[in-house]
Amino acid sequence: METAKVSEMFISYQGEGPFAGSRQLFVRFYGCNRACIYCDTLPESYETFTKDGLMRKVLGFKDAYNELVVTGGEPLLFADFLRQFLACFKSFSEKAVYLETNGTLPGELSKVIDHVDIVAMDFKFPSSSGDTDDIWDAHEKFAETAAQKELIAKAVITDRTTMDDVKHMARIIRGIKKDLNVVLQPVTPMNAMIREPDGETLSGFAEYLKNTTEKDIMILGQLHRCLGIR
Ligand code: SF4
Repeated sequence: METAKVSEMFISYQGEGPFAGSRQLFVRFYGCNRACIYCDTLPESYETFTKDGLMRKVLGFKDAYNELVVTGGEPLLFADFLRQFLACFKSFSEKAVYLETNGTLPGELSKVIDHVDIVAMDFKFPSSSGDTDDIWDAHEKFAETAAQKELIAKAVITDRTTMDDVKHMARIIRGIKKDLNVVLQPVTPMNAMIREPDGETLSGFAEYLKNTTEKDIMILGQLHRCLGIR
């Protein structure tokens, strides 16, 4: 029987992107396949759930939220579990399923995409994240599959982000022949190593993306951090 490690479950308000302010039920899965220097979402503890066990917990929240957010860490590390869990959830609820992911596991996304409504995909710029693995092929394949549903393409921007990485993102987004939201998110400063970009650089990245992709571009910080909520 498939099981999954879940770090926490709670209701709060979306702090990022076009759904900012929406009341959502967050299910945070444990662990990640990346190592971003700005990461603030890797709890140390978890509880192991079966599909039925997690369904009981989720249904216990009744209708007090708008979307079910599957987040992490990287939730697609549990794609086989999620395929079963989300199919079951969809048979009980009409709530939209909102997947937050680092966009590096395209094969795993294929297993669950039928049960997902919104994909919030992070582009993990090596210059911002400090994780220098080559992720561009994986991002391109991932975005192709994710575009079957509502796609939000997001990138965290720091004072180290390079135009080269923005150009890689632009090339992938340009290849998606439908509307999508592109969000540039200035990093929330955490320490002397993690600093925000200056405004001119940030708007220069946004202008480049707008001009080369003709998609909607948003610049938006982390609302929940500004408000001091979870
Ligand atoms: S992909 Fe997300 S959860 Fe994983 S290390 Fe990076 S910021 Fe943290």
